[in-house]
Amino acid sequence: MSFYDTYCAICGCSLISGRIGSDAPGALRRRRAMVAQTRAARERGDPDPKKTEHEEERMDGEDWWSEDENRCYDPTLVSEESLEWLAASRCLGINPEASGNSNYTTFEAVFPFHQDCFDVLTNVLVGSRDVAKIDKDALYDAMSELVAPLDAVCLKLDYGSVSGRGRHWVSEPGEEFSVTSPATTPEVTKALERFLADDAFGLRPDSLGITREPQILLNIFRFLSGDALLALLKSSWPAFCATRRNAFWKWFLKHDMPWLTELGPLLLDKQRDGPELSYKALYLWLDKVMAPRYGMEGPFLSLANRRRIWGVCEQLAPYYVRRLQEISLDEPDPSILEHAICGHMALISDDKPPPSGSWTLQRTLFVYSADEVKHRATIFEAYWGEGGRLVGFGAVVGRQKQRVFGLNGAELPHITRTATRIAASDRVTAITVVIATADPNQATTSPPAVVAILVRTCD
Ligand SMILES: [Zn+2]
Repeated sequence: MSFYDTYCAICGCSLISGRIGSDAPGALRRRRAMVAQTRAARERGDPDPKKTEHEEERMDGEDWWSEDENRCYDPTLVSEESLEWLAASRCLGINPEASGNSNYTTFEAVFPFHQDCFDVLTNVLVGSRDVAKIDKDALYDAMSELVAPLDAVCLKLDYGSVSGRGRHWVSEPGEEFSVTSPATTPEVTKALERFLADDAFGLRPDSLGITREPQILLNIFRFLSGDALLALLKSSWPAFCATRRNAFWKWFLKHDMPWLTELGPLLLDKQRDGPELSYKALYLWLDKVMAPRYGMEGPFLSLANRRRIWGVCEQLAPYYVRRLQEISLDEPDPSILEHAICGHMALISDDKPPPSGSWTLQRTLFVYSADEVKHRATIFEAYWGEGGRLVGFGAVVGRQKQRVFGLNGAELPHITRTATRIAASDRVTAITVVIATADPNQATTSPPAVVAILVRTCD
């Protein structure tokens, strides 16, 4: 057993599996009473009641223990089969020493995630399930930017109300939705279709006990400019009226629930076959029954979990897009040039002394802007000539072109390359070079040379 469990970088849940509780009537009764009590306490804003307060009411012949059951899922909501997706995972990592455009074979830092979660992320980032359209370099850099401090086990994202993460994963009763696959299935589509056919959402909004207008208006406001927002606030009555039109709710439903991919085709069928739907009632119903919440039951656990995961992916998306849109810098920022100091002149060699009178000066800046220092990871490279002698340095900052001082083997195929990745949060504290000098007992055949480099960093 490892010291710490690792968790999916996208949904924040176990990468292995979960524990399923006893289906003995006494165990089921106790677990459900416990979940109901906790849920009621949370709705009141009270702290969670202690699980130890629930007495065991074991029937004759039942074989279960409350201590175990406190850390097990309801067997009527999950099964060994339904948890299998948790073990189907992938990793995104980087091997700085690999060459070529895609450096993902062996790794120094990796981000593991479930295949099903990656499908959701792909949908959010590129609008389809075509994984090939994902720029993995940009995704790796985006995730690197969100790495939490050392004691955290996930990215700095809001994963919703999931409390199982700790040193080891805890199968928290009441959070079964969090370990239900977000992938679409024929069963979930059929369940949704059945509810639509039964007009379950035909309830009047008041009967659902919720009033959504203020929150909805806030959601709309998020997409307005400051001027437009002020203008709309000044005329709040028309704004309110706008939300009363069915067309508004039709638009808002599509806009606010992109994760509900099953709904579009079902609505087309329903619209063809019957009178116009009340999109407001439908939206309010979907919003309520598919809210990822503690103690959730019913047929929509997977959709509620997809909604939660979609929300996590939407938090990650701006970081990814920013990486994609990184502007290529051809010149250093003038402020960098202003503060750059050259302490000494270094001699570049490819094992052969340059012909007399052919010395040239070369200037290389590895950092082009203050933003690169703060937010960009760097692949630091060293190039080695014959006899393992250092002949050049290089740096690839974020998605920028390689910046080289000395030789990098572009014209000299015998030159080899080593590399290490310096994360954006790391700072180089020391660079140690090992210099090999000629043996004093032997005739001099070559000048001293750097034969090893050690880069030390801290975060
Ligand atoms: Zn996941």
